[in-house]
Amino acid sequence: MSNRTFTMIKPDAVQNGHIGGILDKICAAGFRIVAMKLTKLSAEKAGEFYAVHKERPFYGELVEFMSSGHIVAAILEKANAVEDFRKLIGATNPAQAEEGTIRKIYAESIGRNAVHGADSNENAEIEGNFFFSGLEKF
Ligand code: ADP
Ligand code: MG
Repeated sequence: MSNRTFTMIKPDAVQNGHIGGILDKICAAGFRIVAMKLTKLSAEKAGEFYAVHKERPFYGELVEFMSSGHIVAAILEKANAVEDFRKLIGATNPAQAEEGTIRKIYAESIGRNAVHGADSNENAEIEGNFFFSGLEKF
């Protein structure tokens, strides 16, 4: 059965001109774009999105980075979407990501790592709802 995941193209990849290249890889891997927007997170909103990492040492850096420029937020649909998308993006640290993965190709570092992918069906739903209204999720 098809299900959905949530992604962001992060500020590093947007600034470096990789929106097109990343969307190309996502579509070539069989994901349908359900909803998509170019937007910018305030520090407050970025902090809220990543609240689960509040106690981690990189939280401040992460919030500053994610509010530093435009992002592309999108809901994607495909069979086994969450797991398959995590495979497509590769490991959090691009140095450990497999060849051909989006992070291997486009990420600069463990922090500036080009893309976000939801880690569970439940979080995909929560994160999609953070950015999109019911009317936008076709
Ligand atoms: P993922 O995005 O692969 O699910 P995490 O949920 O562990 O990874 O972390 C969320 C985000 O926080 C990462 O994508 C990355 O941008 C940032 N991050 C994670 N670990 C570090 C770190 N050690 N130093 C700096 N930033 C980090
Ligand atoms: Mg995560």
